[in-house]
Amino acid sequence: MRAAIEAAKSGLNVALVTKVYPVRSHSVAAQGGINAALNPADSWENHAFDTVKGSDYLGDQDAIELLCREAPEDILALERMGAVWSRDFDGNIAQRPFGGAGYPRTCYLADRTGHGILHVLYEQVIRHGVIIYDEWHVVKLVVKDNAARGVIAIELKTGRLHRLHSKAAVIATGGYGRVYKTTTNALSSTGDGMGLALSAGAALMDMEFVQFHPTTLPRTGILITEGARGEGGYLLNSKGERFMEKYAPKVKELASRDVVSRAEQTEIDAGRGVDGCVLLDLRHLGAEKINERLPQIRDIAINFAGVDPIEKPIPVRPGAHYSMGGIMTDVNGMTAIAGLYAAGESACVSVHGANRLGGNSLLDAVVFGRRAGAAASEFCFQTAFPEFPDSSLKDAAHEVADILKRDGGEPAFIIRGEMTAAMENSCGVFRDKERLTKGLENIRELKERYKKVSLSDKSDCFNTELLAVVELGNMLDVAKAILIGAVNREESRGAHSRTDFPRRDDEKWLKHTLINKTNGELKISCKDVTITKYKPAERKY
Ligand SMILES: Cc1cc2nc3c(=O)[nH]c(=O)nc-3n(C[C@H](O)[C@H](O)[C@H](O)COP(=O)(O)OP(=O)(O)OC[C@H]3O[C@@H](n4cnc5c(N)ncnc54)[C@H](O)[C@@H]3O)c2cc1C
Repeated sequence: MRAAIEAAKSGLNVALVTKVYPVRSHSVAAQGGINAALNPADSWENHAFDTVKGSDYLGDQDAIELLCREAPEDILALERMGAVWSRDFDGNIAQRPFGGAGYPRTCYLADRTGHGILHVLYEQVIRHGVIIYDEWHVVKLVVKDNAARGVIAIELKTGRLHRLHSKAAVIATGGYGRVYKTTTNALSSTGDGMGLALSAGAALMDMEFVQFHPTTLPRTGILITEGARGEGGYLLNSKGERFMEKYAPKVKELASRDVVSRAEQTEIDAGRGVDGCVLLDLRHLGAEKINERLPQIRDIAINFAGVDPIEKPIPVRPGAHYSMGGIMTDVNGMTAIAGLYAAGESACVSVHGANRLGGNSLLDAVVFGRRAGAAASEFCFQTAFPEFPDSSLKDAAHEVADILKRDGGEPAFIIRGEMTAAMENSCGVFRDKERLTKGLENIRELKERYKKVSLSDKSDCFNTELLAVVELGNMLDVAKAILIGAVNREESRGAHSRTDFPRRDDEKWLKHTLINKTNGELKISCKDVTITKYKPAERKY
């Protein structure tokens, strides 16, 4: 939506295609906040350093500098659009401490930050006359002669396939959390854009870096914001010890997410967990603070864990949360395909490198969404309307008809269940060659079985079973890309923690992983990391 607003401002005709209603996008669930160095005692340089360190030196430093320099203006722009930021006693935009940050620089709207931002963006989308195709599911990016020509989408209500012919397209389809069995992500976070871009010829970057958030509820995977630790929450093991004192003596619970998740998993594996969890204790914050700053978290804990955090600690564990990797872009959202752009969680600029700091991904979506929208519109003004290859709509129609025609095969949900379990077992917080290779074999086998899936619902109207098949195709590609990257990277960096290669190895691995699809096969290569002024150093919290 941020990209659409920027493009519409330039006077272009802009359409927004979305498989759910725009305000139901996963961003609506973002709780804790969005980072910007607003306080005069803080600086964008501090923010940049924390982000580089958080990324375990894999983030591109030119892109990180840009993100942090432009952040304050984007926060104020959101405020002018109507975002009602929480305030401090002097009336300034309030900022809370977050993991891996040397200064309290996370702006928030209580614990409903994404909700607030998404709704004001939606208002602006309407105000600027963007045409919205909601509940339209994109099934193909149309690319010919290395130039984007538009997309093909299924209209859910009728089952009809439509072509959307455009000079440029910005992919902003979010993350792939649903590739894992338990995740904080919405049902719609199936990595469609990454799968589609890969098939259209774009490269994916750094897919092995999957963020496991330290505080998610068991079974459901529902998120308990890092803001709960930002407000002063403790993590305890079964002996009642504040174990983070051992793993990050200086900042304890506010170390970066990879560090905290590894510490929790280590405690749980050593038998110091509580039913496969550790405990998040907020009791000492008191009822007033919990009700004012973390009202939604209290509701979630009561409804989904049966625990009132005013009275008892909340059981939490690491859960799949965020994709540091994605479609490779430059700082203007541009991919290697002319007219094809990407932004937000689906893209990899890369500002998060091997581990993202909390509060930096809403920022990534807003800053690089704006930049991608501006760059895409500039491209449109300089380019003639490309021809839309007619055969592509026919081909897509054949593919859909072929899926609907099949009988007697497995249903998609069985393959999907096996895929999410395979990812959970083989590619979690700790990884090793044996488990990763087994996971990869598993996914290869599932991809073969996928070719024969069939549907019980053959109807046109809201055929969600058909969409599940289309999503599964993308998810299997994404899962394979994650595993190929993870097997290949023989070191531990950020969220990628190999027990068989426990050290970071800058000599061999200070580089990005690229994955391309050629003749149906995924091929791996690499790319240098851009270093400006922050030389790689040991990471301690
Ligand atoms: C529970 C939770 C809490 C979080 N809290 C924070 C936080 O406090 N701070 C922070 O910085 N980050 C947070 N994050 C991360 C952050 O919210 C996301 O990375 C970010 O909001 C992603 O935004 P996006 O616009 O890229 O994608 P999304 O908001 O996921 O939107 C994707 C859009 O693409 C559309 N789409 C997808 N596939 C298709 C298709 N095939 N056809 C058509 N449309 C499609 C969807 O309909 C949707 O509109 C949180 C994430 C989660 C899951």
